[in-house]
Amino acid sequence: MQKGKINVQTENIFPIIKKFLYSDHEIFLRELISNAVDASQKLKTLSALGKFKGELGDLTIQITFDKENKTITISDKGIGMTAEEVEKYINQIAFSGAEEFVEKYKGKSEADAHALIGHFGLGFYSSFMVAKEVEIHTKSYTTGSKAVKWLCDGSPEYTLTEITKKERGTDIILHIAEDSEAFLEEHKLLDLLKKYCKFLPIPIQFGMEKTWEKVEGEKDEKGNDKSIEVEKPRIINNTKPLWTIKPSELTDEDYSKFYHELYPYTFDEPLFNIHLNVDYPFNLTGILYFPKVKKNLEVQKDKIQLYCNQVFVTDSVEGIVPDFLTLLHGVLDSPDIPLNVSRSYLQSDANVKKISSHITKKVADKLEDIFKNKREEFESKWDDIKVFIEYGMITEEKFAERAEKFCLLKNTDGKFFTLEAYKESVKDIQTDKDKKIVYLYTNNVEDQHGYIQLAKDKGYDVLVMDGVLDSHFINLMERKLENTTFVRVDADTIEKLIKKDEEIPSKLSDAEKEKLKPIFEKNVEKTKFTIVLESMSETDQPVLITQPEFMRRMKDMSAIGGGMSYMGSMPDMYNLVVNINHPLIGQILNNTDENNQNETVKQLTDLALLSQNLLKGEALTEFIKRSVQIIK
Ligand code: ADP
Repeated sequence: MQKGKINVQTENIFPIIKKFLYSDHEIFLRELISNAVDASQKLKTLSALGKFKGELGDLTIQITFDKENKTITISDKGIGMTAEEVEKYINQIAFSGAEEFVEKYKGKSEADAHALIGHFGLGFYSSFMVAKEVEIHTKSYTTGSKAVKWLCDGSPEYTLTEITKKERGTDIILHIAEDSEAFLEEHKLLDLLKKYCKFLPIPIQFGMEKTWEKVEGEKDEKGNDKSIEVEKPRIINNTKPLWTIKPSELTDEDYSKFYHELYPYTFDEPLFNIHLNVDYPFNLTGILYFPKVKKNLEVQKDKIQLYCNQVFVTDSVEGIVPDFLTLLHGVLDSPDIPLNVSRSYLQSDANVKKISSHITKKVADKLEDIFKNKREEFESKWDDIKVFIEYGMITEEKFAERAEKFCLLKNTDGKFFTLEAYKESVKDIQTDKDKKIVYLYTNNVEDQHGYIQLAKDKGYDVLVMDGVLDSHFINLMERKLENTTFVRVDADTIEKLIKKDEEIPSKLSDAEKEKLKPIFEKNVEKTKFTIVLESMSETDQPVLITQPEFMRRMKDMSAIGGGMSYMGSMPDMYNLVVNINHPLIGQILNNTDENNQNETVKQLTDLALLSQNLLKGEALTEFIKRSVQIIK
């Protein structure tokens, strides 16, 4: 037996690391299994190169635990290590990594250290976060090598003994510390394996599992195919995840299946996917899915999983991919993303920035491709993908430039237009006397039906802007599109919305107008409604309610916390527009029976309110009573 002292300068690194990495203890399993995978991959490579002539055999990595003896064992059949290699790789290299870590974070507050650590890969050393003693039993693949056992109890002293071990490879035996006994539970280990090792390239077995299997050619009593229960090794990983396979070899069904493998609790089908495959100037593979949009965007965020050579690293990709892409689902795998560093470092890393803008470009390419080659499919999915595109355009200048080509506008007839095509189609009719093109829109096709109809009757077009981001998107469009203004279809009378040169002459004199105003005023709440007298066409409605665009926008802004939050508590204000050219208005004016005059005004006002969904409670009850009375 050989005794030794691990060559570390820092005193007591064990307790320091244990404390710092408190929240991330579980990564020990990922680190040890990655080492086992590496050792197995290396042997495969050596074999392929003809440098290892023996049988590779079954390379499955075994994870076992013993609750009674409080151990967890990770066994591989990889290259193993000789005594000299243990000396070099474990005593010198593995521990120097740990020491460097301690040096870096010494003197920092615990909170700082935590923020900095992120995913500091401590490799083999991380086993001491959960174990009070660690054994390595290892036998090198080289012919004639002797197996050795390395034992260390968490102090810088270790022993190295020759042992007999039949098979090539390495067993890491962790003697779990009292405060980490929670890891000695089957479900806990299974969860961790599923989280970190789901797509590792070497099979990993964790115990056995029972499944039902069909017996070929046999039937049960009912004449169905006979199945029997069998016990099989429980392999927890898919060694060839879809992103590692060439896109040309995959079908839509494969992508859909993989989506559900990633998100077993999502039942929706993704809209489409993007298979990333980059090898210059950095390595990146992955599959991104456009999911079906949920009402609440936050729920949707942060579903992308980040891998480093098929080892799960994190599912919080904030800062690695542009914000709008965090709405996508899927996986990214890159050995070039520096994972062993803190998040703040990651965000300022040049490589990460390049990756981020590359992904943006790829997403734009894909969208443009579908738009160009499968326009019908693109349109049919527009309602779902529009939120990604709008979010991207609002937050990423580069993406906005690209998306201008394939961003669509939809009108109330369900027809789609590109930005350019729409401008062309409305500019002749909807340009007002100030040479501004007016885009009419609705944010609720049902509620604003009457107003939409009015606009359409005049030959105007109305866009549907009912998405969660549409009010922001409208602001962006107004900045981008020259000489264009968006107004909601119920913001004013249609004559005022698209002001033309010729005005409809008024049928009432100024004196008559003076008389008319108070008759309407006394029937509505003064704080809520402003009476506006308008000369419209005789065939338009006599009275209607509008809400000025600026008013609504201010309210929208305050609702999303845009610095004008006092507007939120401000009551809604409307215009009560009276069409002075309507025959009924003339009648009201000339009515000498004051009661009857009031009744008519009330009835007309209520009808207008009703069409804006503003007639409620007692006022609604009154209206119904009055209407019945009129019918009588
Ligand atoms: P890293 O994996 O980042 O190199 P580690 O501390 O995890 O750092 O491991 C140090 C070294 O120990 C590895 O590079 C490898 O040479 C060796 N090693 C660790 N685990 C195994 C194993 N299961 N089989 C063979 N060699 C191993």
